[in-house]
Amino acid sequence: MTTAIDNALDKAAALLRPARSAIAFTGAGISVESGIPHFRGDGGLWTRFDPYKVAHIETFRKDPAQYWTYSLEHRRTNAEPNPAHRALVDLEQRGQLRAVVTQNTDGLHQKAGSGQVIELHGSSHGVVCLDCDAQFPRADIDRLNREHCPPSCPSCDGQFLKPTVVLFGEALPERALRQAQMLAMAADVVLIVGSSLQVYPAAGIPRLARQHGAELCIVNAEPTPFDDVATVVIHGKAGEILPEVVRRIAQES
Ligand code: NAD
Ligand code: ZN
Repeated sequence: MTTAIDNALDKAAALLRPARSAIAFTGAGISVESGIPHFRGDGGLWTRFDPYKVAHIETFRKDPAQYWTYSLEHRRTNAEPNPAHRALVDLEQRGQLRAVVTQNTDGLHQKAGSGQVIELHGSSHGVVCLDCDAQFPRADIDRLNREHCPPSCPSCDGQFLKPTVVLFGEALPERALRQAQMLAMAADVVLIVGSSLQVYPAAGIPRLARQHGAELCIVNAEPTPFDDVATVVIHGKAGEILPEVVRRIAQES
């Protein structure tokens, strides 16, 4: 380990140890070590696929089969939380983290055991019918999908079954956004993990927190546009860095 990283780890621990209203803000990068690919940057899905073709609400409405075929081929259904997810559970249980605000839809924070999780982009574990609003577990629709793609609604036979994720061109769920904004305004520290911080309005959450006086600690594989205003920036793998930060917090308390 270089001295620079060692110092940054100490600084991150010192920032979080006395925190009273810290939140984590997570993105696709925290789930990469669980085998779920991220979007932007090195090795990201959007270097191979056009997001506007596979994840935009208008394209989805025109051709749901395209979305569902992509989803059947590329969605991981058996992913498990990794040490980064578990480190956030430890922080919450120690009283050093109030909530996790996530852009992820994979449900791995909940699976790891985080109690307060706010999903800004919905969940990929559910499916909603755009005609009759009925909701279904994703696994049931995936099964139908393998028999016939695109799947049709088991309740009304409608042709627009959409996962309960926020696609490009859709608004964020109002309640989740409001909760995240309240937490951001009250936060003393925001621990940002695995996000390129390029997707708005989600990236507005750490920005809002900063405007209200929060200090930012960024753990990401690559530089982000927020690095300049952060108190601590650590470039590396979340699954290696976060457990080490928690270890250092525990050691000195
Ligand atoms: P992003 O793909 O834009 O950025 C991910 C960042 O994580 C990149 O900067 C990358 O350098 C970094 N990264 C990669 N591996 C890492 C690791 N092991 N440790 C730390 N950092 C790592 O993702 P984003 O900022 O979340 O924003 C984009 C959107 O992606 C969101 O809309 C989200 O809904 C969606 N998304 C979610 C999932 C998921 O649920 N797991 C997966 C892909 C995309
Ligand atoms: Zn229906």
